[in-house]
Amino acid sequence: MHRFIVGLLLFLVVLPAVSSAGMNLPRHDLKISFDLERHMLIGSSTITVTDRKNVVIGLAGLTVGSITLDGLPLDINTIKQGIPLGSFHAGNTVRIEYTVTAGRPPETDTSRNAGVVSGNLIGPESIVLTDGWYPSVNGLASFAMTATLPRDFEGISEADEIVARDIPDGLREFAFHFAHPVPGIHFAAGRYVVSSVTHNGTDIYAYFLPEDSGLANNYIEYTKKYLDLYEGLLVKYPYKRFSIVENILPTGYSMPTFTLLGQDVVRLPFMVETSLGHEILHQWFGNGVYADYSTGNWTEGLTTYLADHLYEDRKGAGPAYRRQMLTAFQSGVTPEKDFPLSAFSGRADRASAAIGYNKAVMVFHMLKVLVGEDAFRSALKSFVAENLFKQASWLTIRAAFESASQQKLDWFFSQWIDEKGLPEVELQNVIMSYRGAKAVVSFDLSQKGKAFRLLLPVLVRSREGTVRKMISLDKATEHIEIEVDGAPLELVVDGGFDLFRKLSGREYPLVLTRLINDTQKIAVMPDNGEKDFAEAIDLLKKEGFVIRHEPEITHNDMKQASLLIIDSGNPLAARIFGKLKKAEGDLSVMVRENPYSAGNVIGLLDYASPADIARYFPRIMHYGKYSTVVFKNGRNILKEISAREEGMRADLSPAVPGVEVQRLVDLPGIIEKVSSRKIIYAGEVHDRFEHHRAQFEIIRGLHGKNKKIAIGMEMFQSPFQQVLDDYIAGKIGEKEFLKKSEYFTRWSFDYNLYREILLYARAYKIPVVALNIRRELVSKVSKTGMLALTKDERGELPADMDFTDKEYRRRLRESFQRHVHSTENNFDFFYQAQVLWDEAMAHTLDAFMRKNPEYQVVVIAGGGHLAFGSGIPRRTHRLNGLDYSIILNGDEPGEQIADFVLFPEPVAYREALRLMVQFKDEGKKLVIADFPKESISEKAGLKKGDLVLSIDGVPVEDVSDIKIHLLDKKKGDSVEVKVRRSRFLLGDKELSVTVAL
Ligand SMILES: [Zn+2]
Repeated sequence: MHRFIVGLLLFLVVLPAVSSAGMNLPRHDLKISFDLERHMLIGSSTITVTDRKNVVIGLAGLTVGSITLDGLPLDINTIKQGIPLGSFHAGNTVRIEYTVTAGRPPETDTSRNAGVVSGNLIGPESIVLTDGWYPSVNGLASFAMTATLPRDFEGISEADEIVARDIPDGLREFAFHFAHPVPGIHFAAGRYVVSSVTHNGTDIYAYFLPEDSGLANNYIEYTKKYLDLYEGLLVKYPYKRFSIVENILPTGYSMPTFTLLGQDVVRLPFMVETSLGHEILHQWFGNGVYADYSTGNWTEGLTTYLADHLYEDRKGAGPAYRRQMLTAFQSGVTPEKDFPLSAFSGRADRASAAIGYNKAVMVFHMLKVLVGEDAFRSALKSFVAENLFKQASWLTIRAAFESASQQKLDWFFSQWIDEKGLPEVELQNVIMSYRGAKAVVSFDLSQKGKAFRLLLPVLVRSREGTVRKMISLDKATEHIEIEVDGAPLELVVDGGFDLFRKLSGREYPLVLTRLINDTQKIAVMPDNGEKDFAEAIDLLKKEGFVIRHEPEITHNDMKQASLLIIDSGNPLAARIFGKLKKAEGDLSVMVRENPYSAGNVIGLLDYASPADIARYFPRIMHYGKYSTVVFKNGRNILKEISAREEGMRADLSPAVPGVEVQRLVDLPGIIEKVSSRKIIYAGEVHDRFEHHRAQFEIIRGLHGKNKKIAIGMEMFQSPFQQVLDDYIAGKIGEKEFLKKSEYFTRWSFDYNLYREILLYARAYKIPVVALNIRRELVSKVSKTGMLALTKDERGELPADMDFTDKEYRRRLRESFQRHVHSTENNFDFFYQAQVLWDEAMAHTLDAFMRKNPEYQVVVIAGGGHLAFGSGIPRRTHRLNGLDYSIILNGDEPGEQIADFVLFPEPVAYREALRLMVQFKDEGKKLVIADFPKESISEKAGLKKGDLVLSIDGVPVEDVSDIKIHLLDKKKGDSVEVKVRRSRFLLGDKELSVTVAL
């Protein structure tokens, strides 16, 4: 069997002839006729036993009328499964009269074992007999058959010659002559239109049904090309005739002298370009040289390599084809399902196909790379010439290649044929250095797990050209140095996918195969209309999907399974990829990266109606190699593969960005340049006053040009917007504003850092937008993840969030690793909290701008939320598309980091004075927990455990009361702190302490 894909996936099976000249094999004479209206075959079988021992005749599927042995009747009631005839003398003859009934077309499951149909069909339109339609003889036999058919039928079977003659009663008799003993034969008949030509001594026939007879000529022309190709590559075509036979059942079989192709695939335009060639090549591999199934079926791998792979390779698409082979193996063959090629006999499921076809293709490719093109070709020629009509094993192949290449290949065959496993190679420690006139690229290639003996093509691309090397790797780690003239740019390991190995994360394509093959996959269904999806759910379950709804998905599910999200408008999808536009078409599936797990993918499925899922889903299975497929009006209208890296790559000379110092601009110049933008992001390091002064200057500068300006601030959380509004409107004073906005507990940096900006806003009634989300929500997400939030909490989340910025994720990971916090030790949750924070600010900003479209907004936020646009700017842009500029403070200028980077000199400011006390907040009670060294309060007489009651007569409930009170105090002022102190055995006492600031 084999696999071919060009848009469609099918599996073609080779049903071999096995010949053994000189052996005295059983002779099997068959006479068959039909009662087509009653779906019945009437057969007469005469088996002449020669000198073979242990001949077993099987009667499965037959209704036996009579059996005679050398003319004497046997009691058929005593006969069950098979009759051992081993004890009879040579020359004994068994004659069996029987019938077979085959009415309904056999059931087929094209998604799992496409091209293979079990069962027979006998009807007024067509006859297809592949299984249990005559008494079987174990082992080889030589066959002779005559079939009586209606006069307008044509019949076909394994034959070098077919003789037909009209007989009475409107019938026609076909006699089939075939010189080669075979384990079994097959038969098809119907109202075929037969066309034929002779090409280089071979008779080519096309048996097509009348409605498809227009295709015959094209099939014949392609057959000529394939015969020429393979006669050149191998030896002369081994039979006298070859027929292409159309089948109304969806088969893809290749038997000696003919191929039986389903009507559904015969009509596909690409059939002639791939599968036909594959089937013709099976006349040599499988039908000509037979596989020894007991030591591994090599025929599918070799046929696929010299057919499907060769055709792609000639179009320049060999590497892409090989990556597809590797992808199917990696996604479909888990270590538990893996087995060596020596144990492959035929395709039973996707995993065995990935071994017997895909891995074997890679093995033949590696063999070609190892011995070279010339030795590869001459080995193939001699292999076929010496083994035609004989059984050959992997050992026979090894011998042919050893002889042609003059090298021992025992290690190669034992590693790839007798052993299982997928090598996992990593590229590490890449260093480029200059030594005199030369550059040296050094790196390590290491193998995880078992150390294979591998041959790795490596290249170094430089400005001057390309240096190629073959690297042998046979241990866990190999250190390699490559010398290059000139300036190396890039190192590429196995960029052409020449090696059978595990693809690295960046090479592994995001394709449907990965979703289909995943053993843990979840379909996330829309919340409503359960009944409408009943049929779709059945199909999904059959494919191995677990059915869930959005609220049931946990973070573990995201980590461990691949997801298929039905409807890209599903809230789960919106919270991973941002709000997505519903895809066009009646049905579309798009495979994307799972931001939480490199090994799994997320598929997004959009549909016009729930019925379309059931209608198109089985077809999706045939589009495994694509990332995106779209169907409309019953047709595929789009199929795409998203780009991935080719080979393991390392950048050897990253571009060096530079700035032209002469072009440095001052702040007014920058303000001038950004003044036309709708949003100006101004970054800060929170405790650097000069950054806030620069932000203030930007606000002032822009306000001078445009009175419709607003300020968005990270420092305030959106539930406190009303407090901010009241303060700006002059309805409340500064102290009330700070108290009610909970500034000191929620933000806590010295208010003097921001005071100039807020006073200016109040003076000019400039709206200030509280951008931040409630701190408690971010903190919970950072501890338990977003999917652990309650339903109410989820209601507070932005409706859509984008988790796909990989560079941002990478930068956050670096920062996470630098200051990992004991309660935030899960990076996924840290990442979710960061993105939640950014998204919330972006959504709040967007909501303000939608309500107030005439406003220009200056956003004040930490530089981390702005750099590279990753935090707030690009997310806001996703929501509203408005233009923006980013001005950062103090960051190292780098490509893409911002539009402008400011370098303000440190500026002194009046820092708020402090009591130098560490408090613990006991819910409306503030208790002194400890003092730092040299504390002025400790010196003044305050003690640990004191409960603070008031400061200068102002009641104190929490630390903000103290901070607000101290805001305008000057150095040298003093304050009176009233506390309650509990004394051992003496009861509580209130006392006042004067602290000099
Ligand atoms: Zn095949």
